[in-house]
Amino acid sequence: MKIIGLTGGIGSGKSTVSRFLDELGAVIIDADKVGHEAYKPDTEVWREVVASFGRQILTPSGDIDRKKLGEIVFGNSESLSRLNQIMHPRMYDMVKTQLEEYRRQGVDVVILEAPLLMEVDWAALVDEVWVTIAPQSTVLRRLKEYSGLSEQQSLARIRSQLSSAEREKHADVVINNDGDLNELKSKVDKLWQALALDT
Ligand code: ATP
Repeated sequence: MKIIGLTGGIGSGKSTVSRFLDELGAVIIDADKVGHEAYKPDTEVWREVVASFGRQILTPSGDIDRKKLGEIVFGNSESLSRLNQIMHPRMYDMVKTQLEEYRRQGVDVVILEAPLLMEVDWAALVDEVWVTIAPQSTVLRRLKEYSGLSEQQSLARIRSQLSSAEREKHADVVINNDGDLNELKSKVDKLWQALALDT
């Protein structure tokens, strides 16, 4: 089984690449979804998050409100690292268990889509790291279109993340998402073909 870690900056095209790979037959693990799973109500992680950040981060039905939590931790490195210390070990274990299950099932290719793959040192879980990059002006335009973020909000998020140059240094494959969706699709098709020859 080949495990590819797929990462990249905000709005660089990770989810789109992941969707193309899914269509080609890869199995996808989405770290964001693992995170949501990890802090479902009444799990240990949920209890620790509520103990750390208070009940004001809950929705009326008792779920963790990601937007409220995000507002608390974004731009506050102490809170962010407290949250990461709660979340990441649990998420790591969940991903590991899931990978073992896929290996047992005889899956050929797994894509671990994780925005923070490099920051949380999940590289040990994967055989190769693929990184999506896109010019900043393109990312700003896409973010404005799909998330309604202002240029200033987008820039604050971009600056809070690793730079593309830093990600490229640790990448086995760089996917430059600087064209239209057809171009991106054909880049992914080529990578998939090379992978098929390799496995
Ligand atoms: P996030 O970090 O916010 O989850 P992401 O890296 O997963 O973002 P995507 O969700 O794949 O990025 O892409 C962001 C938006 O840009 C989406 O609406 C997607 O459809 C669009 N997009 C991605 N690549 C292209 C492209 N090459 N041409 C046009 N639109 C694109």
